[in-house]
Order: sequence, then structure tokens, then C-alpha cells
Amino acid sequence: MSGTDIPKEQWAQVVEKTGGPVSYKQIPVPQPGPDEVLINVKYSGVCHTDLHAMKGDWPIPIKMPLVGGHEGAGIVVARGELVKDIELGEQVGIKWLHGSCMNCSFCRTADEPLCPEAQLSGYTVDGSFQQYAIGKAAHVARIPKECSLESIAPILCAGLTVYKGLKESGARAGQEVAIVGAGGGLGSMAIQYAKAMGFHTIAIDGGAEKEQMCKELGAAAYVDFKSSKNVVEDVKKASFDGLGPQAVLLLAVSEGPFQQASHYVRSRGTIVCVGLPANAFLKAPVFDTVTRMINIKGSYVGNRQDTAEAIDFFRRGLIKAPYKVIGLSKLQDVFHLMEEGKIAGRYVVDTSK
Ligand code: NAD
Ligand code: ZN
Ligand code: ZN
Repeated sequence: MSGTDIPKEQWAQVVEKTGGPVSYKQIPVPQPGPDEVLINVKYSGVCHTDLHAMKGDWPIPIKMPLVGGHEGAGIVVARGELVKDIELGEQVGIKWLHGSCMNCSFCRTADEPLCPEAQLSGYTVDGSFQQYAIGKAAHVARIPKECSLESIAPILCAGLTVYKGLKESGARAGQEVAIVGAGGGLGSMAIQYAKAMGFHTIAIDGGAEKEQMCKELGAAAYVDFKSSKNVVEDVKKASFDGLGPQAVLLLAVSEGPFQQASHYVRSRGTIVCVGLPANAFLKAPVFDTVTRMINIKGSYVGNRQDTAEAIDFFRRGLIKAPYKVIGLSKLQDVFHLMEEGKIAGRYVVDTSK
């Protein structure tokens, strides 16, 4: 596409004020700065983070009005004068980390999500719920040409984040990992990455639809938090020897499971916190944490190398998490379903509808 084919106006979903809803309207197409590319976004996954952002759930400042979205897959249609290593027509992805200073000690050691100057797609800068979005050339995900933009979109946040979380858990092939919130967007990806990495998984979520999906994706066991009389006992019972899983990946959007995990994780095991419920706190008994040598840590998206690795698992055909495609104009309906915990897997919006 040449510069003259790029329209001046485009369709977007805009959050006008904290609390929402989103409004579907036409807005100007942005212009890339010298170190940026303009991406014609074809598909964007809808992450629970987008809902947290709209609701104002988190204690960090947000841009308003805001175009959300940070699982955007598209094609580069224009580039700034400093961009030499991305060609027009190349497939790229917009992820949560939009940009970083590249010069602080975190950036210098490839921990760029921890950069104090980090810019966040669909939070501090406009994201991928629009037909044309800006990406920083240094940070956009490189999508191999053989990959479908529709199915790779959820890898750009959900896939990357759970892949990184599983690495941070320190679990080794053959060990067991409990995935809490396994039926959601991150969870369904986590079951697939865990399987590809050689872990056994105990999936925890609510309802029969999510149970069926988790088992089809490869979970060895499913604990239903809604019907179980004792989640802690049921998770332990589901583990090989009754002593609990080696690692717990906490992806849930409520505080309860964050308090429970230390009661069923295996001694010397690791609890990795990934989900970001509003106003939530972690609580674990000091006695058990000490005498059972439990590790509790956070994991936040991933760096550029983690992104490339997560995409490569997908490229090799190892990650096939379910998703449903819906028009961008229907984004508010997706948020309603998400709020009610009714989405098994991920929704991907098609920006042309
Ligand atoms: P989602 O809504 O698709 O899935 C959440 C799942 O948690 C649902 O299936 C729900 O049924 C389940 N759940 C709720 N309460 C539960 C309980 N008590 N026990 C077990 N399961 C329970 O959300 P998502 O898009 O997968 O995102 C999950 C969370 O991860 C969000 O808070 C999001 O902001 C956060 N997130 C964090 C990072 C990071 O880098 N740390 C990156 C992306 C998303
Ligand atoms: Zn996300
Ligand atoms: Zn930095």
C-alpha cells in the first residue's frame, strides 16, 4: 500500500471516560513518528486487561479518551524515516509493551517491561481496537509470513504472558503445573504452552463448557471452583502423589484463588501471579511459606526475545487455543460476556466489521 492509499479516517472503538462503555466511531488515522510504523490492524484479541483499563481498576494513570487493545495483528503500511529494518507489507504485532527508554538498567538487560518509562498499548498510548495503529519499530512483534493474522493475535499478549509465566515458574518437563483461570484467554493458551513444554496440567476454572475445553486442550485434570466443596483438597488429590503441583500459574480475575494457592502448592514449589484483579492482596501463612520453602512471585508480559519464542511455538503448530471472531463494532458485547466469566478461550475482533 502506498501513502496515497491510506485513508484519513478510520473506524475505532473509543473509551471516552473511565467506566466505559466503548463507542464505535470514526477517528483520524495517526501518522508514524521517525522511529515508528503505521500498522493496518486486521485482527485484535480482546484481553481482560482491556476491561480492567476501561473500568479504571488499576493504580496507574491511563490515557483518556483511549483506544484500547494490545493483541493487534496487521500489516505495515508506512514507516518513519529512521526505520530501516521493517519493510512495507511485513506482518507485525502490537503487544502490551509499546515502547521503553532503551537506556535504563532494565532496558539494558532485556527486562524492558520493567522500564520506568514504559509506554503501554491500549493504556498510555492508543492500541489495536482501530484499523490503523502506531507501533514502535523496536518493539513490534515480528510475525512470520506463513502465520495467519487471525489466529496469532491472542499470542501477542495471552500466549506471550503465559509462556513467560511458565518459564518463571522454574518447573521442568514432567512436573505438574496448576493453571488457575484455565478456561479463560490466558488459561487456554497456558494449557497449550504447558503441554508443548512437557508439563502436566491441573486446570482450575468454573463450569462444564470450560471443563470440556480444558480437557480437549490437554489438561490432565480439572477442578471446578464453583462446584468443588474443597478446592485445596481437590487440587492436591489431582496431583501425582497427593502432595500438590510443583507450580501454580494464577491467571484468575478474583482475589480468592491468590489466597488459596499456598495451601495446595507443593513444598519447594512456586506460585506465579499473573492475573491482576482490582484492589487485590496476596496472603500466605508465614509458617508454611518458611517451613515448606514456598516461592511466591509475579510475572509481567515478556521481553522481545520471549515474544519471538512464544511466536515460534505457534509457528511450529504447537499452540492451537480456541478463539471466536466477531466484528470490532461488537466489542462492548465481548466485554459483557467477559465480565460475567462466560468466555471459554478468546474473542478476536475483525477490524473490517
Ligand atoms: P479471562 O476473563 O479470559 O479469564 C479469566 C478466567 O478466570 C475465567 O475463565 C474465569 O472463569 C476464571 N476465574 C475467575 N475466578 C476464578 C476462581 N476463583 N478460580 C479459578 N478460575 C477463576 O481473562 P484473561 O484475558 O485470561 O486475563 C486474566 C488476567 O490476567 C486479567 O486480570 C488480566 O488483566 C491479567 N493479565 C496479566 C498479564 C501480565 O503480564 N501479568 C498479561 C495479560 C493479562
Ligand atoms: Zn493482555
Ligand atoms: Zn528503560
